[in-house]
Amino acid sequence: MKVKLSEIPEEGLTLSEHLDPAQMRLDTPELKFTAPLDLTATFQMQREMAWVQVGITGQMQQICGRCLEPYERSYDSKFHLDYSIKGMLSLDITDEVRQEILLSYPIRFLCREDCLGLCPQCGANLNERSCHHASA
Ligand SMILES: [Zn+2]
Ligand SMILES: [Zn+2]
Repeated sequence: MKVKLSEIPEEGLTLSEHLDPAQMRLDTPELKFTAPLDLTATFQMQREMAWVQVGITGQMQQICGRCLEPYERSYDSKFHLDYSIKGMLSLDITDEVRQEILLSYPIRFLCREDCLGLCPQCGANLNERSCHHASA
């Protein structure tokens, strides 16, 4: 998302945009967005500084780290960005938005907190069935 600084009025400017997850290179082996993300950004500036309040929502599919099954989660992230805009005519927040989205990913992916995972011996998904290895 790019904005001309001359178009930001004193009371601020709010813009919305769809983000293409493929174009933004947001997908990882464990995580992908299943639809475009909704980005809303409110720009404000004072003298040589600009503040951007950003909200992003979407739908993502993750691969559980224990049972390896895909599951869906809604994505919701809010953050703000600060810029020094001295001498600048326009502001492009795309790179920083991408960074913030990547940083917001959970460290580990679990389909549920008590996911039982796979049996290390036969590979059975223990959420769906028990095997004789697990009963020991
Ligand atoms: Zn799981
Ligand atoms: Zn087993």
